[in-house]
Formats: sequence, structure tokens, C-alpha cells
Amino acid sequence: MDKVKDLIDKLVGGNRLALAQAITLLESEKSEDQQKADLLMKSLPELKNKTFRLGVSGVPGVGKSSLIERLGLLFIERGHKVAVLAIDPSSEITHGSVLGDKTRMEELSRHESAFIRPSASRGHLGGVAVATHDAIRVCEAAGYDIVIVETVGVGQSESHAANLVDHFVFVALPNAGDELQGIKKGILERVDSLVINKNDGENKLAAQVAQKQYKSALQILRHADIPLYLTSAVYNEGVVEYADFLLKTWAQSITLYETQRNHQDSQWVYRYVEQFVRLEMNKKILSSSELKDLEGRVRRGEILPRDAAREVLKKFIAFV
Ligand code: GDP
Repeated sequence: MDKVKDLIDKLVGGNRLALAQAITLLESEKSEDQQKADLLMKSLPELKNKTFRLGVSGVPGVGKSSLIERLGLLFIERGHKVAVLAIDPSSEITHGSVLGDKTRMEELSRHESAFIRPSASRGHLGGVAVATHDAIRVCEAAGYDIVIVETVGVGQSESHAANLVDHFVFVALPNAGDELQGIKKGILERVDSLVINKNDGENKLAAQVAQKQYKSALQILRHADIPLYLTSAVYNEGVVEYADFLLKTWAQSITLYETQRNHQDSQWVYRYVEQFVRLEMNKKILSSSELKDLEGRVRRGEILPRDAAREVLKKFIAFV
């Protein structure tokens, strides 16, 4: 366990490799690593400075990485250290990766005040969310006072993502008409601000229409003026204004964020329970030949999936 203490000393001292290793530990599903992860989280030093956790969500291709890179560089210019945790919801079907191999945030990733870490979710979004929840704290302990969590706006991930951060932003495309149809109401219910990106060239007109449509959708849904910004990450327009807005909001909301984080933590207990149960299940039950038999019985129509699930649960309870 001295190794964990050593890792903490190193990462607090600014060693990026140690920070990366600590996050790998949090993501590991091995029992011995999980124990070390418990100790790691328990032993992190108290933070001296206030931190800001920003969640950025949106469909692939909307420009999240481009925008985060611009914002990150601006935050650094203003004296901050920025960590980016990008959650890649790798497809369970293709085992591919939505984020792919494209070089992301090249300039930011080269900066000594930035740390960028992609995490593949391997289809277990809950698991990644739990690891990310811890990874944020580890980044903060390593001196990063702004932590940006990037998620692809797909289904359930929004509520996990919104619960990880102080401020949650949805990045939208200028063609709101189509996009609004596809967006789950859930995301608009959770956003603290909204950015319409790609507000450049031929898109400018569409972006203005989108702005009106989102404004009225948010009015109807939230009965409030949710801040809405137009940006072009490529041409670096509107980004400074948005970065300033975020820093101002942070400064004004420090006490609010403290209360909000405490509330979020209380919600996270159940996410951890789900994750720990899933890991134990995998280890103790799901690899057994009995389970294969059970799957066969479901396939042959001899037993209903829900009854099979009850049997699995019974076996699991007998184990623990
Ligand atoms: P992500 O998948 O949401 O992270 O999107 P990326 O940041 O990788 O951007 C996807 C594509 O859109 C890239 O080819 C970018 O160069 C382009 N892009 C990003 N932001 C803008 C923008 O503001 N305007 C225009 N025209 N293209 C952009």
C-alpha cells in the first residue's frame, strides 16, 4: 500500500505519469486494483483551492473537442490548469470508437498546464461514470483547478454527466430544427448553458434561427432564461465571451457549487453500489457454466428472461 502513497505524493507533486496511472487504477476492474483505488481516494489530501467542474455534451461532430481546446487555452492564459476527461462511448456492437483515432486537442494536449485523458466506456457507461467521478478529484488533487468532462450526448449519459459537474453545457448544431427533434428533453432539462457552435460561413443564418428555437424550447421547458451562446471554434469567434461567462459564473457560484457537490455525492452512492454489484456479479456468477446453461434455456424459450434474472440474483445472494 506504500505504492499508493507514493503515487499520491508524485501526482500531487505534478507528475503526469502518476496522475495517468492513478486514473488507470480507478478504471481497473481487478479486485486488487479496486482495493488500491479505495485507498487512493481515501488518502487524497484536502484541496486548498476552489475548483470548477465543467461538463460538455453534444452529438459527435458538433465541435466539442475544438471548443474545449479553445476554452482550455483561454483558461490557461488566465492562469488556470486544465484537465480534460473525455468519455468515449465505444460501441458495444462494433467495438469501435466514436472518437476514433483522430488527433484531438493537439495544441492543448502539448501545453504543460493541461492534462487530457480519454476513457473508453466499453459499453458500461455507469462504470466509467464512477471512475470519472473519482478521476475528477484526482485531477484536482494534482493541481488542475478546472476539470472539463466531455461526453457524447447519447441517452443515459447526460444524467450521469450532469451529476459529475458544477456546470453542464450542451453544444448544439446550427440546424436546430432537425436536431431539436432528436434531442432528448432530458438534456435540455439539465443544461446550465447552451452553445450553438459552427456559427460561421453559410451556417450563420441557420445558427440565428437555431438560437430562437432553442430559446423558446428552453423557455417552455425551464421557464427561465438559460444562457445561450453562439460560437465558432474553428474561427475562434464567441469563444472568449463564453469563457468569460463561465469564469464569472464560477466566481459567483462557489458556495452554490459546494452544496450542489454534496447533494451529487449523496446520489453517487447508488451508482457505486450498481458498479460494485456489477463487478462482483461478473467475477462470481456471470462467468460460470451455470449461467451459460441459463442463457441456453432462455434462448430455447424454456424460461423467461426475468425468471432467469431472478435465478442469477438468488445465486449471487447465496455467494455474498
Ligand atoms: P466533436 O466530435 O464534437 O468533438 O467535434 P470536433 O471538435 O472533433 O469537430 C468535428 C469537425 O467539425 C471537425 O472537422 C472540426 O474541424 C469541425 N468544427 C469544429 N468546430 C467548428 C466550427 O466552429 N465551425 C466549423 N465550420 N467547423 C467546426
